[in-house]
Amino acid sequence: MRATTWMGKTHVEVQDVPDPKILNSRDAIVKITSTAICGSDLHLYNGFIPTMRKGDILGHEFMGEVVETGPAVTRLKVGDRVVVPFPIACGHCGACERGLTSVCENSNPNAGMAEKIMGRSPCGIFGYSHMLGGYPGGQAEYARVPFADVGPLKIDDGIPDEQVLFLSDILPTGYMGADMCDLTRATSSRCGELARSGSSPSPAPDCSAPNGSSRSTGSATGSRWPKTKPAPPT
Ligand SMILES: [Zn+2]
Ligand SMILES: [Zn+2]
Repeated sequence: MRATTWMGKTHVEVQDVPDPKILNSRDAIVKITSTAICGSDLHLYNGFIPTMRKGDILGHEFMGEVVETGPAVTRLKVGDRVVVPFPIACGHCGACERGLTSVCENSNPNAGMAEKIMGRSPCGIFGYSHMLGGYPGGQAEYARVPFADVGPLKIDDGIPDEQVLFLSDILPTGYMGADMCDLTRATSSRCGELARSGSSPSPAPDCSAPNGSSRSTGSATGSRWPKTKPAPPT
């Protein structure tokens, strides 16, 4: 398949790479129909995030069609359209069971590397360095999605990709930030800034929604991250 690869600081290339395979019974393979470039990809592009390796496949905001499932996948079937959230979560660890999927304890096999560099580790994240799991990303024709029953959101036919792609990252990230800051329509210009910071260009989320509502989205951002350490993807 073809994929966007990180080849070094300020150097990316579209290259032929091996197709992903099912490695675990809970994996699915997704044929990607839409993908995005995040502002956080600039952290990789500009060499600010350590543990990138030449040839790593970029991309953590993508959606597509399920083309293969592992034998333990029960919620998804071939042909389903899905948006894939960038945090990879097992669904069963202590963090996941408390709804803290962005700090899943099972999806980052290189957590020790992240702890050494950043002080703590988030979950594994697609296309975002080896200290965050070394998972090939979604700026590609296909991607392997671990724990496929947990993260991916099924999308009904008839809804165009452009209306749901940003559920992979930017919309929940902006929503969570707006919620944490208690933003309202009166402060909506700040909300727009929040949505754009570290993210690809996008309309601002509806700032009226978080005000007074419970938190319903999660991402690897927020106050848990040490301010003096490298920023996580958003
Ligand atoms: Zn977990
Ligand atoms: Zn992002």
